[in-house]
Amino acid sequence: MSDVAFGWKALTGAIAIAKNLKDFKKQVDDSAFQLQISELYDNLADTKMGMSELKDLLRERNDEIRTLKEKLKVRGKMVYTDPYYQMENSEGKLEGQYCKVCYDGEDLLMRLEIMSSNSWKCGKCNNICVKDERWRH
Ligand SMILES: [Zn+2]
Repeated sequence: MSDVAFGWKALTGAIAIAKNLKDFKKQVDDSAFQLQISELYDNLADTKMGMSELKDLLRERNDEIRTLKEKLKVRGKMVYTDPYYQMENSEGKLEGQYCKVCYDGEDLLMRLEIMSSNSWKCGKCNNICVKDERWRH
């Protein structure tokens, strides 16, 4: 059973016990009442633990969503200009040279090191990008 389902079951149990206690009124003996109170505390403690784990799970999910939104935002700015990616800046100009292998494979923005006027190297994956002379104007 998941932590959330466990917490939900405990909460449902606590609500049922609270309803029982309300219905008991004064005709119940003290030991039965104490037993119900004890079960209620146990269920509430389990509920608190389940909800705490749910809170952690929500925090993790929110972090993942934030990370994915940031990646999407970056992806919208990336333009492939053979043999590398470039990023569109706030003025709409393309800048930088980023490794195609690292970006396509792992979503990593690795700036390329200049080797010559038409070749660059990635410091992470050692990919060498060569701009085809046909592309030169
Ligand atoms: Zn690379």
